[in-house]
Amino acid sequence: MKSLKEIKKLKDKKVILRVDFNVPIGKDGVVDKGEDWRIRATLPTIEYLVKKGAKIILLSHLGRPDGKVVEEFRLGPVQDRLSELLGLSITKTPDCIGDVVKETIAEMKMGEIVLLENLRFHKEEEENGEAFAKELASLGDVYVNDAFSASHRAHASVHGITKYLPSYAGLLMEKEVDILTDAINNPKKPATIVIGGAKAETKLPVIKFLMDKFDNILVGGVVANVILKAKGIDTGKSLLGDMDPEEAKKIDLDNTKLHIPVDVIICNSEVKTAALSAIGKIGDERILDIGPDTAELYAKIISESKMIIWNGPMGLFEKDAFSQGTKEIAKAITSSKGYSIIGGGDTITALDKFGYLEKASYVSTGGGAMLEFMSGEKLPGIEALN
Ligand code: ADP
Ligand code: MG
Repeated sequence: MKSLKEIKKLKDKKVILRVDFNVPIGKDGVVDKGEDWRIRATLPTIEYLVKKGAKIILLSHLGRPDGKVVEEFRLGPVQDRLSELLGLSITKTPDCIGDVVKETIAEMKMGEIVLLENLRFHKEEEENGEAFAKELASLGDVYVNDAFSASHRAHASVHGITKYLPSYAGLLMEKEVDILTDAINNPKKPATIVIGGAKAETKLPVIKFLMDKFDNILVGGVVANVILKAKGIDTGKSLLGDMDPEEAKKIDLDNTKLHIPVDVIICNSEVKTAALSAIGKIGDERILDIGPDTAELYAKIISESKMIIWNGPMGLFEKDAFSQGTKEIAKAITSSKGYSIIGGGDTITALDKFGYLEKASYVSTGGGAMLEFMSGEKLPGIEALN
């Protein structure tokens, strides 16, 4: 992986910088403090390029507009927040390709920043379309990828584009790769990984690879639901994600390293409140958090670990009634003496909400990307830089 710092002359060069500005935008159309950490994480790279006198062309996606223009996913609020954070004015184009974009870029001066509109307004982005990648590449002289958290998918702006331009890793990308590589190559034992959240389809498949590398795998959230189901345990009406529980049977579900919830908090649909339940008796209810015995068991394992990696909330933490499990795990990890790496959009939001964000040893911008990287899988966006 070549580093941005290896580029000798950046002055006046048009640098295409892929960032991950996929941040939650509140109903007020503003990126609030506490939601802007993904933007803040890229500031060192942007500031470096400004200082060197480059012309900076920013690429990002936001949300899942699925290949068409969706007004609520425009990058205007991101433009405003970035401008505030840098103390610089930033131009935004109405699209990410086309004549207006070309004209805007042609007028750029040294140290200027242009933010192109949401890449995912074009379906070719997620399809890794050849012509689209080439068109993006034609906008600049060099390409820099600083979007670690978006590099686990072979999309045009992280993969296809690298075929047409000299390609480098940004400062954030380099830091993520260095720290996570060190964590897998020199794990401090016992090492524990905690996996939860909703995106079971991306997280479950990596568990079988993580079994070799970690001493304990603790699961919660929808990821745990799928495992319970695959073990033949009743999960009632719980969410299972976009995942066939049969797929989960590829994991060695009886491995003693794998820890599953022993009690859960369910939504009692009759009285519409949270209720504690033993595993296996869910009936018509939904599992929405791990229970107190599970949290205690997990916290004990965490406290005895020298390294803890965490991605994915243990439950529906956005609702107070189902936030306790996630809060307990956040507390256990950040108060443990072990080295902690915590990543993922919603996981970091939860950590911040409960006031533990500053206490993590390292916060990664990647969720799915971090898990895939930790499992030893090659990420297409990173491979493309080699
Ligand atoms: P991250 O962004 O940290 O990688 P995900 O996007 O995979 O995590 O999942 C986060 C979401 O999962 C949260 O919005 C949370 O409410 C939800 N979630 C966790 N557990 C459950 C559950 N048991 N039922 C429904 N939703 C859940
Ligand atoms: Mg998420």
